[in-house]
Amino acid sequence: MHDIWRVFRYIKFYPWNIGANLVFNMLAVFFNLFTFITIVPFVELLFGSSQPTGELPPFALNQEYLSLFMTHSLATLKVRYGLWTCLVGFALTYLVFSFLSNLCRYAAQYVISPMRNGIVMRLRNDLYHRITILPVSYFNSRRRGDIISRMSNDLSDIEWGVLTSIISLGKDPVNIIVFAAVLIFISPRLFLYFLVIMPLAVWLIGRIGRSLRRTSTKGQTELGHLFSLLEESLTGIRTIKSFSREDHSAHTFDKANDIYSRRVVQVARRRELSSPLSEVLLTIGLAIILILGGLAVLQGEILSSVFILFIILFARLIPPVQSIVRVYNNLQKANAAAARIFEIMDADETILERPDAISLQGFNNNIEYRGVSFAYRTDTQSEPVYVLRNIDLTIPCGKTIAIVGPSGAGKTTLVDLLPRFYDSTEGKILIDGTPITDLNINSLRAHIGLVSQDCILFNDTVANNIAFGRTDYSIDDVKRAATIAHADEFITQLHEGYDTNIGDSGITLSGGQRQRLSIARAVLKNPPILILDEATSALDTESELAVQQALNHLMQGRTCIIIAHRLSTIRHADHIIVMEQGRIVERGTHQELIGHDGLYKRLVEMQSFH
Ligand code: ADP
Repeated sequence: MHDIWRVFRYIKFYPWNIGANLVFNMLAVFFNLFTFITIVPFVELLFGSSQPTGELPPFALNQEYLSLFMTHSLATLKVRYGLWTCLVGFALTYLVFSFLSNLCRYAAQYVISPMRNGIVMRLRNDLYHRITILPVSYFNSRRRGDIISRMSNDLSDIEWGVLTSIISLGKDPVNIIVFAAVLIFISPRLFLYFLVIMPLAVWLIGRIGRSLRRTSTKGQTELGHLFSLLEESLTGIRTIKSFSREDHSAHTFDKANDIYSRRVVQVARRRELSSPLSEVLLTIGLAIILILGGLAVLQGEILSSVFILFIILFARLIPPVQSIVRVYNNLQKANAAAARIFEIMDADETILERPDAISLQGFNNNIEYRGVSFAYRTDTQSEPVYVLRNIDLTIPCGKTIAIVGPSGAGKTTLVDLLPRFYDSTEGKILIDGTPITDLNINSLRAHIGLVSQDCILFNDTVANNIAFGRTDYSIDDVKRAATIAHADEFITQLHEGYDTNIGDSGITLSGGQRQRLSIARAVLKNPPILILDEATSALDTESELAVQQALNHLMQGRTCIIIAHRLSTIRHADHIIVMEQGRIVERGTHQELIGHDGLYKRLVEMQSFH
């Protein structure tokens, strides 16, 4: 139960709510107890003796004195006011106690409400922040659907566990302790009979709880798988349709859904077992008490009205005990969910910022890759597979460098190292002579603009997509950036112009339009260093022309690193490097490289055939 306790640490933000909840619950239990105790006078009034019994012995806090006191006072009342008035009087007392008890119960819930929702809200926030902080590499080895499932389903399991336990733990233990104390006071012997079944009950309920946690973990993993399938299908819906693979996808999903549903049934059956089980156990206890207690009444050891009170109070023990068992089970489930949440919370932040990190103030000189090698870390492989090997490269400020080479050569990986999406395995990268690992990460990334072929847009207005979370730009700045990016024209034709909502991932826009929006975003950011990763390769020729013009504007006066598939677009780059299998195999200007009879020349020749 270690993980769920970590969730409960969030309680510290709500000391007053907890305190007030406990006080109200205690009051509720006491009033409740009194409601039941008023049953005794009824029985006594109706069936007890009608005459006061002589003199009372001196006061003592024991059962004998209290019973005597009660019968004596009741008989006196009955003589003085008559039976009917007494009954009405006690009925009114009963009502008042019951009303007060329920009022306190509501007050207890009222004060705790902000906390039970607040805990999960804080946890959800922390989790989201954590997800945005974790390095890109973390998400490579995990499926997006699984993370979404953790964020929704596991959190709701935790929410349910926390919710029921906070409601229950504030009231049930108090209930049990108070009722048990009164029961012990009434008859320790009868209470002892009941305790005989306790070890068996604890053992059985514990077993069910543990097996519930294991099954629940499996269920959540399977649900994560289900979400991943859904997420993949949604992303790849065009591919699924174009290959007519709807049946295949549906079949895969059905299978996963079936496995998950079976698990849910298993979990439900286990969870539902403990409630009747605890009731049966308590009823066995009750049966023992009925027999042995009945015997005690027959032998005149206890008053029959006291025995009835004992039975009534004992029966009142059943719901809080059942509720605690239910909470225990919910907590087992929530614990399994919490373990999955904290796995994300505790994941290594492999891209660390030094405590004494320097803020990068401008870029004036050069970027230098010095003996850089890199291997992607995956969980399964033990031997690192290098995708970059011993890269030496200097990019002077203000120059345009193009990177070309066959697919899989390591071009994207090479540029991903610069904003520290990954850290190099060996060697280092320096900006103006300072290793990037010594720099403040935000200041480093503020100097770099990235435009790639899969431009990411969000379900928001055009203007907000360009400003992208920053509020220090005016709408005029946004429009200026859009004009430079050749996007202004099509934006003004949209039905609400800059306020048009572009739908999920910019679904309502064409590829070229999306790309120009992401260029406008880069223009607005105005970074000195620009990375273009195959920015035009997903476009048709006409869009490519518009986007290329936008890019040319964007590149002016900046240091650019361009990964290009179409070699015609980088002909004028100051320097071209050719990569193959993680190494730089050629470098020079277009003319120089054409002069060599190497890979570059072959690539150019291959493309001119098209
Ligand atoms: P390029 O951009 O030249 O096509 P990449 O840099 O994308 O090449 O990939 C270089 C190599 O690294 C490829 O062999 C690819 O399979 C591998 N690779 C790319 N991304 C990952 C990743 N996230 N995890 C593991 N291997 C990867």
